[in-house]
Amino acid sequence: MNLRTLADIEDLKGKRVFVRVDFNVPLDDEGNVADDKRMRLALPTIRHLLDHGASQVILAFHLGRPKNNEPHLKANKVAMKLSELLGMDVVKVDDWGKNGLPEAKIVMLENTRFNPAEKSKDVAERDAFGKQMASLADLYVGEAFSNSHRDHASMTSVPKFIPGYAGLGVEQEVAALTKAISDPEHPLVAVIGGLKADKLKAIHNLLGVADQILVAGALATNLLKTKGYEIGASKADDEGMEERADIAKEIIASDKVQLPTDFVIADDFSESANVKIVPADSIEPGWMALDIGSKTREKYVSALSSAKTILWFGPIGVFEMVPFAEGTKVIGEAIASSDAVSIVGGGDSASAVKKLGLEDKMTLVSTGGGASLMMIEGKKLPALAALEK
Ligand code: ADP
Ligand code: MG
Repeated sequence: MNLRTLADIEDLKGKRVFVRVDFNVPLDDEGNVADDKRMRLALPTIRHLLDHGASQVILAFHLGRPKNNEPHLKANKVAMKLSELLGMDVVKVDDWGKNGLPEAKIVMLENTRFNPAEKSKDVAERDAFGKQMASLADLYVGEAFSNSHRDHASMTSVPKFIPGYAGLGVEQEVAALTKAISDPEHPLVAVIGGLKADKLKAIHNLLGVADQILVAGALATNLLKTKGYEIGASKADDEGMEERADIAKEIIASDKVQLPTDFVIADDFSESANVKIVPADSIEPGWMALDIGSKTREKYVSALSSAKTILWFGPIGVFEMVPFAEGTKVIGEAIASSDAVSIVGGGDSASAVKKLGLEDKMTLVSTGGGASLMMIEGKKLPALAALEK
C-alpha cells in the first residue's frame, strides 16, 4: 500500500491541518479519560505539524456510540486531557458550523458522531458533512488507524475535498502489518482465537502466506463442530457459518492448520464451575470448552518456538475468568519471549496482553481490531484507500 505521508507534504508553513485522530478512549465513572494510550499515539503527528509551521491543528474524532448527543460523550474532557499531554492550550469548539473556528493553535471539534451525517449510509450526506469539515482546513491527515475500515465522513469524505495524508502512527502501523502479511520472515505462525466467526476469513487468507495456523478460542470449537465433533454446550458463533461452510471445510483440510487436541471444559460459564481437561473428541453434552488443554498448550508453544513472524488475533480462552486464563497466559508469554516479529490485533487480545503485562514485549499491539483483521483478510480499507498515492 502506497500511502501519501507527512513527508510528502511540501510545505506546512501557515497551513491549517485537519487531523482525524482516534481519541475514542475509555472513560471512568466521572467521565474522565481512563486510559490515554490512544491519545499518546497521536502526539508525534500533532507535534510534527506544529514544529513544521502549521498555523492551526484541527482535531476531530468520535467518542462512543452517541444516539442523542449524550453529554457524557462530549469531547470536553478529552480536550482537557490532550492539553495536559501536550502542555498546550486545546480549545474545544461546539458550533463550528455556524461560528467557524477561533484563532487557537490547537482546536478540537465536538464528537463527530453527534452529527448523524458522520455515519450516514448515504454517501451524498456524508460528503456534504465532509465538505463542511474540509472547508475549515487546507490539508487532511488521517491518524485513526483503528477506524480505517469504516467509510465515515471524517474518514473518507474530508480527503475528497482537500489533500489527504497518513499520520505517523498510521504509516507505522500499516507498514508493520503490510510487511507481516506480504513479505514476512518465515516461518510465519498465526495464532487465531477469540469468539467471532468472521475470523475464518482471515484464516482463509492466511492459508496462502502462513506456515502454520494455530486455532484456539471458540473459533476452534466452531471448526470442530464443522468436522462433526460433539462440542456440548460450547460457544460457537453460528452467525454466518452457513455461507462460510466452504471456507471452514478448506481450513480444516489444510495441513497448515492445527486445532486443539484437548480442552479445559466446564459445566457452567462461571469461575466456580466444575472444570476438567478432556481430549477434543470427548466434550460431554452440557459441558463447554472454555480454554485449550495442557497438551495443546505444549503443542502450540513448540510450534511458536521456531517462528520468525507471529500474528496473534483473538484470546486463546476465556481469559477474563481465572480457571480459563491459562492458555492465553502460556501462549502470550511464549509469543512475548520469542525473537520473532510479533503482532497482536483485536480489542480483547490487546486487553489480554495488557493484563498479562506483556505489551512492551510485543513488536506491535495493533490499536485496531477490525481494521487490522481486515488488512489480514486482504481487503482494502476505505479510509486508507482515500490516502493512497
Ligand atoms: P478480539 O477482540 O481480540 O478480536 P474476539 O472479540 O473475537 O477477540 O473474542 C474475545 C472473546 O472471546 C473474549 O472475551 C474471550 O472470553 C472469548 N473466548 C475465548 N475463548 C473462548 C471460548 N472457548 N468460549 C467462549 N468464549 C471464548
Ligand atoms: Mg472483541
